[in-house]
Amino acid sequence: MGLRDLFEKDVQELEAEGILFTSLQKLVAWGRSNSLWPATFGLACCAIEMMASTNPRTDMARMGSEVFRASPRQADVMIVAGRLSKKMAPVLKRVYDQMPDPKWVISMGACASSGGMFNNYAIVQNVDSVVPVDVFVPGCPPRPEALMYGVMQLQKKVRGEAFDERGVKLPMVEGWAHG
Ligand code: SF4
Repeated sequence: MGLRDLFEKDVQELEAEGILFTSLQKLVAWGRSNSLWPATFGLACCAIEMMASTNPRTDMARMGSEVFRASPRQADVMIVAGRLSKKMAPVLKRVYDQMPDPKWVISMGACASSGGMFNNYAIVQNVDSVVPVDVFVPGCPPRPEALMYGVMQLQKKVRGEAFDERGVKLPMVEGWAHG
């Protein structure tokens, strides 16, 4: 194929020959969405289900997200798995701050998202007040499959393929820290 063909053939013809057209933004988002690496950070019982999501049965490796990193500097997703105590909140925020941009947050389970059954002075009632949450996964605890579904929803948001409840397409989530 010569350069001239690119101008003379239409897109369908070129695609049939294996030439794809996209934007750099979409290509980067596709790469990011298929290599979301979570920080190793478990807070309570939900963390056991999070660990189970990498086992051979659920196999989160299929989503490119099985690489839990021991250093926040090598991670781009924080899965808040379990209840967050107010004493622990500054530590969680510090780990989040140490993660490089772009980065995303999944709130896993009722406790992380709403305090769950722990409606008391010691527990943060919504981790969104500490770090910006992109996806909430309901349940107590959510099964590994539910977390996988949450990761898939985050992938859609990163690629700009998510819709709100009215069917309006949401903008691509760049994952840069807010404020
Ligand atoms: S949501 Fe349920 S399983 Fe998860 S941390 Fe709270 S009590 Fe534990």
